[in-house]
Amino acid sequence: MRRHINTLNGLITLINDDPLAPSPDLPVSSVLAQMIETVVKTTNLSININSTTGGVHSPRSFHYHGQALDINRLDGKRIDDVSNGANVQVFQQAVAAHIDVAECFGPFINIRKRGAQVEQRPDLRIRHVNHLHISSQT
Ligand SMILES: [Zn+2]
Repeated sequence: MRRHINTLNGLITLINDDPLAPSPDLPVSSVLAQMIETVVKTTNLSININSTTGGVHSPRSFHYHGQALDINRLDGKRIDDVSNGANVQVFQQAVAAHIDVAECFGPFINIRKRGAQVEQRPDLRIRHVNHLHISSQT
């Protein structure tokens, strides 16, 4: 089942960083929507989602299945803003600890999970320094 992500009274925005590209406010996996809403509520950190099922991603990406999203801003600042490091770390830790997470890629944590099995993927950090990529198992 797919649904739109709840914006939680503005804590979550869905704005494409390319103003000419389509809106990322598209239906996604309800498990992914629930997971991201929970992490935003528990950390109380606002996010901008700049990609969901649209855009260009690697060929077997979870994005094409409505199970992944990208975040380019956290607490009003870019992910690669050095003054935002502590917030980005807290947010990534909350995502990585969520039971439904499949992928959590970014500047601090790069893991892929299948069930309880966790694979460390430090090689993927280089492609996720300016955004967080988050996907859910279903
Ligand atoms: Zn992504």
